[in-house]
Amino acid sequence: MDYTYAPGRNHLFVPGPVNIPDQVLRAMNRNNEDYRSPAIPALTKTLLEDVKKIFKTTSGTPFLIPTTGTGAWESALTNTLSPGDRIVSFIIGQFSLLWVDQQQRLGFNVDVVESEWGYGADLEALASKLAADSAHTIKAVCIVHNETATGVTNNLASNDVLNNILTVANDKFARLSSDHYQHPALFLVDGVSSICALDFRMDEWGVDVALTGSQKALSLPTGMGIVCASPKAIEASQTAKSLRVFFDWKDYLKFYKMGTYWPYTPSIQLLYGLKAALDLIFEEGLDNVIARHTRLGTATRLAVEAWGLKNCTAKEEWFSDTVTAVVVPPYIDSSEIVRRGWKRYNLSLGLGLNKVAGKVFRIGHLGHVNDLQLLGCLAGVEMVLKDVGYPVKLGSGVAAACAYLQNNIPMIPSRI
Ligand code: PLP
Repeated sequence: MDYTYAPGRNHLFVPGPVNIPDQVLRAMNRNNEDYRSPAIPALTKTLLEDVKKIFKTTSGTPFLIPTTGTGAWESALTNTLSPGDRIVSFIIGQFSLLWVDQQQRLGFNVDVVESEWGYGADLEALASKLAADSAHTIKAVCIVHNETATGVTNNLASNDVLNNILTVANDKFARLSSDHYQHPALFLVDGVSSICALDFRMDEWGVDVALTGSQKALSLPTGMGIVCASPKAIEASQTAKSLRVFFDWKDYLKFYKMGTYWPYTPSIQLLYGLKAALDLIFEEGLDNVIARHTRLGTATRLAVEAWGLKNCTAKEEWFSDTVTAVVVPPYIDSSEIVRRGWKRYNLSLGLGLNKVAGKVFRIGHLGHVNDLQLLGCLAGVEMVLKDVGYPVKLGSGVAAACAYLQNNIPMIPSRI
């Protein structure tokens, strides 16, 4: 018996793990298979080609690793860097903080650029550091594209500040990529809560290693870290001296060459699940997937505004379309909102983490989720807010979201 049973579907609105589509669940509901039979290498070959599309890379080499986002971080770092290497990294919330902690524990010399939580990465500081580093002591720049703890998306595509500092002739975009500075540092990007939901362009932005986890926008169970390495990162891995065994790309590449693909046992179910998840994404169209997230993010922010509450994200330029962190008044404990949502309404919201614990709750709007599901969540949040003593007008956020969505939801392509 499931002692936490509640009738109907749980409204799962944490920013990962997210809802798994029925098609993916069915695709994974299968027996184990011999991964050395011809079927699994053939499936893997297709998957490796297909995942490149969600990273928007043609030259990258993907690795499907039995791990989580944290393992994907470690894979990116240990394959490309050596102990003592100087790297620039940003702390803007709990996940970027954890990545920095991992970087330090792995023995890198981390130049930490910290911002107030709710703000984006200080790209001006990065620009100055790269510009001043004529000796090229900086070996990598590490950044979390979307900080899941605060709902902040760093703009990796173009940045006026950088544009003004070091402009490359004929380059339309001032890219954050270190290539832009003609600096050899590698550019490592955590796309855990962005890839497959937000605009992400590995090749165009000059990203050397990009990574994500299966339980986020891909809408799979947790357990697969997907890492994609540029040719420059692969080259760096040949001389990088960080200790690595399980995560060593060399082992993967050896098996890629042999055409058998797996240095150790893959989860057969996750591979079939990934195939089904990618098929669904391509059927909807990656651009439409991204547009859906933009819509869900906008609708959520309109609801927050209608409730008279503040977004944790300090400026519009950083608004995240995959997660919204909502600041509650000081007389309310946001953890109580999360507890009550689950206990009374079968609604799962994200807790505030670390510095913003008790101060914010998070609405995740990523992956396999649609507009009407979001409205259910927003209605639930309104009732919880009222329960905990916040004077919200029931229906206000839902009405604001509906007014926007009704004008913006496109026809479902397969049903026209
Ligand atoms: N990076 C970001 C941006 C995340 O949101 C998370 C988890 O939520 C992680 C990394 C860590 O991923 P995992 O919990 O799968 O190890």
